[in-house]
Amino acid sequence: MQDPIIWADSHCHLDQLDLNPFDQQLEKFFERAKSVGVRYFLDVCIDTDNLDAVCAAAATYPFVWCSIGIHPNTELSEEVTVDTLCEWANRPKVVAIGETGLDYYRSEGNLDWQRDRFRQHIRAAIQLQKPLIVHSRDANEDTIQILREEKAGQVGGVLHCFAGDLPMAQAAIDLGFYISFSGVLTFKNARNLQDIARVLPLEYLLVETDSPYLAPMPHRGKPNYPDFVHYIGEKLAGLQELSVEKVAQQTTENFFKLFKLERWR
Ligand SMILES: [Zn+2]
Ligand SMILES: [Zn+2]
Repeated sequence: MQDPIIWADSHCHLDQLDLNPFDQQLEKFFERAKSVGVRYFLDVCIDTDNLDAVCAAAATYPFVWCSIGIHPNTELSEEVTVDTLCEWANRPKVVAIGETGLDYYRSEGNLDWQRDRFRQHIRAAIQLQKPLIVHSRDANEDTIQILREEKAGQVGGVLHCFAGDLPMAQAAIDLGFYISFSGVLTFKNARNLQDIARVLPLEYLLVETDSPYLAPMPHRGKPNYPDFVHYIGEKLAGLQELSVEKVAQQTTENFFKLFKLERWR
């Protein structure tokens, strides 16, 4: 008998899903996800406001893990320090630091604070020996430069919702980072991204929904849920001319390897 197809959503925001009442519906949602083979989830923190919710979901469900960090576009009254990040990371099932990074698309003006926040996260990740979840938008060169300067290759991580170019992807892989594709990969106008996905080695690729944002085809423009990750994996399989089974198996294995999780079988 063939192994069942099993997917991991390497980046989602469970606390922001459109579910009501939340706890009951979340339980039902996981059943639905299981029925399409989506079995593992990384719930990603973006703010001090959702830190508790993210950690609670991971503490409740054995198949959910979480990250801690402050998104580059989040406004804070007081900046986070390495010490604060390390303290948050003591909570159960925190397996990564982020999402952190640079976003020159949504923030304007002098962005020294954003670069400094990114460096704090990298330093915390190195201190904790945990991988980084990196968000990068319109900041390809600076992202790679800061990762290099801070020696982030010691812990590695993932460039999530990848939207850079091929040199950026290759530089990140050289540093020991994975590249994660979101629903954007399924969009008709994402030709450049699809060309990149065609040539990158599967051993360094992950799939994610970044839900509730960026629903893949055929749900584009509607609310996004982590079980839609299979559409992204199927698209990737088509681009790489590999079987869906192979892409599911390898990306799930990559997920377990990167976040140093127990083998699931
Ligand atoms: Zn992001
Ligand atoms: Zn995100």
